[in-house]
Amino acid sequence: MVLLGKGASYGIALGKALVIENESLKIEKENIEDIQLEKNKFLEGIKASKEQLAKVRDKALKELGEEKAAIFEAHLMILEDPEIVDQTIQKIESEKINAVYAFKEIANQFIMIFESMDNEYMKERAADIKDVSDRILRNILGETVIDLSMLEAEVILVANDLTPSDTATMDKEKVLGFLTNIGGKTSHTAIMARSLEIPAVVGLGNVTNQVENGDFIVFNGETGEVIIHPTEEEIKKYQDLKENYEKERKDLEKVKGQKSITLDGREVELVGNIGTPNDLEGLLKNDAEGVGLYRTEFIYMDRDSMPTEEEQFESYKKVLEGLAGKPVVIRTLDIGGDKKLPYLKIDEEMNPFLGYRAIRLCLDKQDIFKTQLRALLRASVYGNLKIMFPMISSLEELLAAKEILNEVKKDLENESIKYAENIEVGMMIEVPSAAIMSDLLAKHVDFFSIGTNDLIQYTTAVDRMNEKIHHLYSPLNPAVLRLIKMVIDNGHKENIWVGMCGEAAGDKKMIPILLGMGLDEFSMSASSIFPARKIIRSMKYEEAEKITHQVLSMGSAKEIENYLENTL
Ligand code: PEP
Ligand code: MG
Repeated sequence: MVLLGKGASYGIALGKALVIENESLKIEKENIEDIQLEKNKFLEGIKASKEQLAKVRDKALKELGEEKAAIFEAHLMILEDPEIVDQTIQKIESEKINAVYAFKEIANQFIMIFESMDNEYMKERAADIKDVSDRILRNILGETVIDLSMLEAEVILVANDLTPSDTATMDKEKVLGFLTNIGGKTSHTAIMARSLEIPAVVGLGNVTNQVENGDFIVFNGETGEVIIHPTEEEIKKYQDLKENYEKERKDLEKVKGQKSITLDGREVELVGNIGTPNDLEGLLKNDAEGVGLYRTEFIYMDRDSMPTEEEQFESYKKVLEGLAGKPVVIRTLDIGGDKKLPYLKIDEEMNPFLGYRAIRLCLDKQDIFKTQLRALLRASVYGNLKIMFPMISSLEELLAAKEILNEVKKDLENESIKYAENIEVGMMIEVPSAAIMSDLLAKHVDFFSIGTNDLIQYTTAVDRMNEKIHHLYSPLNPAVLRLIKMVIDNGHKENIWVGMCGEAAGDKKMIPILLGMGLDEFSMSASSIFPARKIIRSMKYEEAEKITHQVLSMGSAKEIENYLENTL
């Protein structure tokens, strides 16, 4: 069977599928005769859960440190709680109902009690109980519970979508690739896959139902082709493709250590996007000239409470030191949209991407924002920090964010805490209103970084996560290209540098156009850096300018794509 999705992270994968069921469980009440049998099922479920969690905790302790392991320790303690166990047993006995239903009812009661408490810490415990009870329910039902941190063999992960905590805890050595039902090239699963340099195809529609555990699969992370149960011939073809791909990667390494400069001498900066300090290794291996986007939200995501100032400081310091004086653009918290925090309750929204997110949330919950800014400023003495605000959609927002930054600087001065002088402050241009106002905004920042992932979706009203309309989502859309050109020109008129940290910056077709528009900095996934440098080194700036000029006169993405295919 051949499926076609969106190639989200380059590379060829061959291996056995591991299907992750993260759909919610359907549990119904049943009247039962054999009370002892149900009690046993329940106790077995608890026992299996304990054994699994103890293993995960031990592994976390060894590989991720005490803090992460503490989460699993807390989960183990919930399992030991006699109240939950006794009440479930009683319920099975008195109501003569099935174990799984009885336990679900009891667990829900506890979850509700914790959720309704006034104390934030207690509220957070509700999420833990949910997590543990889900594991117990699956164990009672005899479903396999998959801990991605404990994979036994090499696998291709097949899921509806992967959460940031899935990707953060999973055993990367064992994961050959990802396949997901939903998502596009700029969904966070796709971005994570690229920064981990793991091949991935997303937006496959219903792959979780088309594949079973253990099925042999081959796929191409560039073209999006996925073959389930390939023939001998197809396997051979994919083995060859894999070999070629690896050879090509080796060949690309020839540009390592070279400048990112055109044949006629225009030099640009090729920098990397990261989500956690763990991505540094890939970045340095791929010769990034700095960090153009550090998505700090991942510090907040893979956990069950707010990170402290100290924890954040350590992460920022690590990245700044790792880059040894090269520029590091750290973006302040960009939560909301498709990125949620389990411990920060935000009311359900009709349109989360147009909702309470990023800088809007930070200007409203200033304690969260100030904690982050303090950590950033304190870390600034360890390298070349630039601070960037996400999702700015008006001048007022920018000025308010800068004002708070100044307040935090004053606080630090009062406490005699040092921070670097002349830290550049910039903003993302990812909302059309900001692009349109960029002439005025440019007077108040040191740089712009264009976030095409969101700019495309907001400009063209095409949800970046929706695979049904993904054919409408393109950085080559002429309206998007015109906005990008306008932003670069407006930035340059005010003598500030303009970069791009959306995925378009690493897109082979976009690079000549962006180069010709005068983009100064290109920030991309680590694995895109060598290919990008190769393109830049193989052309003249003059040529790129001509391409840009032509493209800007065209009326559709299709026309532009055809033109580029014939020209490049
Ligand atoms: C963007 O929108 O282009 C961007 C870089 O931010 P994110 O993908 O994190 O929304
Ligand atoms: Mg964005």
